[in-house]
Amino acid sequence: MNLHEYQGKEILSSFGVRIQRGIVAHNHKEAVDAAKELTNETGTSWYVVKAQVHAGGRGKGGGVKLAKNLQEVESISNDIIGMMLVTPQTSAEGKKVNQVLICEDVYYPGESETEEYYMSVLLNRETGRNMIMYSTEGGMDIETVAEETPHLIFTEEIDPSLGLLAFQARKIAFNLGLSGGALKEMVKFVSALYTAYIKSDSSMFEINPVLKTSDNKIMAVDAKVTLDDSALYRHKDYAEMRDLREENPIEVEANAAGLNYVDLDGNVGCMVNGAGLAMGTMDLIKQSGGEPANFLDVGGTADAERVEKGFRIILKDPAVKAILVNIFGGIVRCDRVAQGIVDAYKNMGDAIQVPIIVRLQGTNAIEAKQLIDASGLPVHSVVEFQEAANKVQEVLA
Ligand code: GDP
Ligand code: MN
Repeated sequence: MNLHEYQGKEILSSFGVRIQRGIVAHNHKEAVDAAKELTNETGTSWYVVKAQVHAGGRGKGGGVKLAKNLQEVESISNDIIGMMLVTPQTSAEGKKVNQVLICEDVYYPGESETEEYYMSVLLNRETGRNMIMYSTEGGMDIETVAEETPHLIFTEEIDPSLGLLAFQARKIAFNLGLSGGALKEMVKFVSALYTAYIKSDSSMFEINPVLKTSDNKIMAVDAKVTLDDSALYRHKDYAEMRDLREENPIEVEANAAGLNYVDLDGNVGCMVNGAGLAMGTMDLIKQSGGEPANFLDVGGTADAERVEKGFRIILKDPAVKAILVNIFGGIVRCDRVAQGIVDAYKNMGDAIQVPIIVRLQGTNAIEAKQLIDASGLPVHSVVEFQEAANKVQEVLA
């Protein structure tokens, strides 16, 4: 589950990670109140207005702006709240901004220069260990750094039985070119960050930038936090942070019905049982020249009710021009599934306006094909996998 920046910062702060202070506002009046409160708390007279959406690159899209007084806080917030924010990480239509985070300005002038670093905590799936990835090249797109100057990205792997060791935190601070008070601050920052990652059961933290202020404080200016869904039962308060407005509405509905559905860009709807077969089906559609419109695993019990729900979910995507049903009948017999498809089809009447190709393989596959062929419904029934993909191309042509 992904969080908004302000929620991520809340979690970080609760574990002692220093953050750029901020207060959420839903309209320009709340924004001005938030700014006043920040001034009381921190003494700041400049502010940053930050759009809260689940997408990075907000700065580039005009979703992060400096305000040098309360009037600017008001007018900038008014502009940003309600806008469709387009960033390199959103679709072309963008994401609606429902709220902004009003932050203290932390790039104030002082004795020394401010510096921006990159830092993330995530699982290295090859070694099965958590690692801290960091770079002196903060504030920029880390993919670009990885491409152009990969030697400026460092990683530190953490032994799960020992946790982050003091020397590792010092090494990170040292590699970032810090010394004196700033080095000590960074050691504290890294240690608190790793503790937060473990204790919150997160699967990813990305802090870009981590800022060294001109008075040598180290703080998180941005926070991208992904929580591990499987651990949410241990964190009821985090589970409540879920913002369904940020998620794909078809995926939300499918997941509520217990279907494992991921929306994709193509035009061939897929209904499959088992995640592995679903991946294989998507591959074959692509190899045959098509583009899958979704990933959908209906799970073990492909009865009429689930098949119907699956059809209805797939058809919510207007791009779908054909549906391929690819089911392996192992525990659930193919003729049972075939009956489910026929019943669902009859039940849905005119709701299905696209060709359906059904491939059932496994126990009673022949009986299943006969059942579908005898139903008189406009459903193409095939036995071989490749044949199914070819049929899809044929009906689309
Ligand atoms: P992102 O663009 O979605 O990654 O949003 P960030 O939270 O990283 O903000 C984008 C950029 O805004 C940062 O890289 C900073 O350069 C700038 N920024 C953030 N906070 C401040 C601030 O307090 N003062 C100033 N002057 N700039 C800031
Ligand atoms: Mn950022």
